[in-house]
Amino acid sequence: MSIEVTDDMLTLLLVIETYTKSSDSSHLDWLKELPLMSIIYEGAVKGIFKGYDYAPWSVSMLDGTRHWLNISREGKDDLEDLLDLRYISMLRLSTSQYGYLTAYRLTNRGGKIAQDVDPKLREKVRRFLYCKCGELRMAVVRGRKFFFECKSCGFESPIGIDIIEDVSYKTRVYLPDYLRNGNNGRDTE
Ligand SMILES: [Zn+2]
Repeated sequence: MSIEVTDDMLTLLLVIETYTKSSDSSHLDWLKELPLMSIIYEGAVKGIFKGYDYAPWSVSMLDGTRHWLNISREGKDDLEDLLDLRYISMLRLSTSQYGYLTAYRLTNRGGKIAQDVDPKLREKVRRFLYCKCGELRMAVVRGRKFFFECKSCGFESPIGIDIIEDVSYKTRVYLPDYLRNGNNGRDTE
């Protein structure tokens, strides 16, 4: 088994490290899947992850309902690879109310790899995840909405993982232009 470790995988490893290393008691021990998916989405939008795209995916929410969220296939694949490499470990809890709850954290092996990551990459991840006030931003889920928030200074920013681009709507918007171009004799249905 040989898995090429890409910069995006190392970036993802550093994200998980940031939220799960136990040296600072304010950090979580396990990073739950939904907040992680929202951080990956935000990172894809902001170019923190170079090769990540996203597409609507039906996801089970904390209240047991299912909703369409922008999920990064590449991010999920890299998570699988990090698990295969044993750089991270996964916790899967069966809950009576909500079905499965999945969470991730760094392993000792992953911690050693993270120590050797290019400082420039580490700085990029730090700037992405830390608030201007110096505290770590947390990805929180409230109902169906996702936010990056800093409890220390009150900073809050919505994460658009739940804003699905509606292709059929776009097509309808496109139609008037098409008709204006003088092709209205054609059957557009
Ligand atoms: Zn802050």
